[in-house]
Amino acid sequence: MQGTYRIAVLPGDGIGPEVTGQAIKVLKAVEEIQGPMFRFQTGLIGGAAIDETAVPLPAETISICHNAQAILLGAVGGPRWDHQRHDLRPEAGLLQLRQRQELYVNLRPAVVHDSLVYLSALKPDVVRGTDLVIVRELLGGIYFGNPRGIFAKNGERMGINTEVYREHEIERVAHRAFQLARLRRHKVTSVDKANVLESSRLWRDVVTRIGRMYGDVELQHLYVDSCAMQLIDRPTRFDVVLTNNMFGDILSDEAAMLTGSIGLLPSASLGERTALYEPIHGSAPDIAGRNRANPIAAIASAAMMLKYSFRLEMIADAIERAIAKVLKRGVRTADMAGKKRAVTTTRMGDLIAQETQKALKASAPKKSRKR
Ligand code: NAD
Repeated sequence: MQGTYRIAVLPGDGIGPEVTGQAIKVLKAVEEIQGPMFRFQTGLIGGAAIDETAVPLPAETISICHNAQAILLGAVGGPRWDHQRHDLRPEAGLLQLRQRQELYVNLRPAVVHDSLVYLSALKPDVVRGTDLVIVRELLGGIYFGNPRGIFAKNGERMGINTEVYREHEIERVAHRAFQLARLRRHKVTSVDKANVLESSRLWRDVVTRIGRMYGDVELQHLYVDSCAMQLIDRPTRFDVVLTNNMFGDILSDEAAMLTGSIGLLPSASLGERTALYEPIHGSAPDIAGRNRANPIAAIASAAMMLKYSFRLEMIADAIERAIAKVLKRGVRTADMAGKKRAVTTTRMGDLIAQETQKALKASAPKKSRKR
């Protein structure tokens, strides 16, 4: 036994339980090869929690997350709970969780698999080889700054939001981006609007200073408008894209569209103490309970958890290779199938679990023969 990793599992609503189930299946397949490694504790969040406890983030779930080293989440929300008061809606549970755990950086990889280039909205020649990560600051900026509100002045209403960044908020997210770049292709593109905004000028200043500590990583600055354009024109030029809360929100959705299906994209939200891993998609009520959802985003989120929370890079790579292999064989869930025959959620999970085991066996050190 190599040590036990404590994982809080929050399946949530809609397709959340279906896709999270496949991620757990793959982790259990890893255990069959490597020995027991993971201790799972399941908690309620979102609509499922409202139904049972009347709140979207019950105390018991907070305690489960507090005791875990990482959190694996499915998705929350659905029309059944849309009439709830704003702070009692399923999504409020997720926002509260991110804030309580001080998850200040969000990583969103966008990888275009060779076998799926034809699914992208862009030309295959443009997207082929795209492999980037958006590193988004998650707890600061215009979403949280004061003053904010809608006020009446001189007989008309005015809306105010304020972008605020303190140096330490920029420093900690910048460190994460440079450290990540060291595990990748050693390139950071920092995105701001320093030609117009003072908060961006400070951002650029601080990122440049932190960048000097990482002499082996190339740093480039881009204005957000230019970045938005280049993501469409030449996405392969990017490795790690570091940016603030609002620009990151927009650019990460743009980058997601390069890849072909929302069902493929994982994410990680990291703090100092713990981290939350979840697919970027929602609860997809239109296909929930029908065994049709693509579980790859959830499985890839589990792989990110192994890499970033547990430093089990070798196993994470095995899962990522297994996903690529299954896709290369032409296996498709309905969202990617087009006119082809689609497999179910569970079948996709089974195949990735099997391929992961094969990859792990292939990379295990061979026993030396006795002479
Ligand atoms: P959505 O991501 O749930 O669905 C958008 C479209 O993509 C739907 O057609 C859906 O069928 C499809 N889709 C999504 N994930 C898929 C998958 N894994 N496989 C195949 N197809 C998939 O977004 P939405 O419809 O705008 O929102 C539905 C609910 O989810 C809402 O209540 C929303 O608030 C919530 N939501 C939650 C999160 C989250 O939990 N982080 C994120 C976004 C939306």
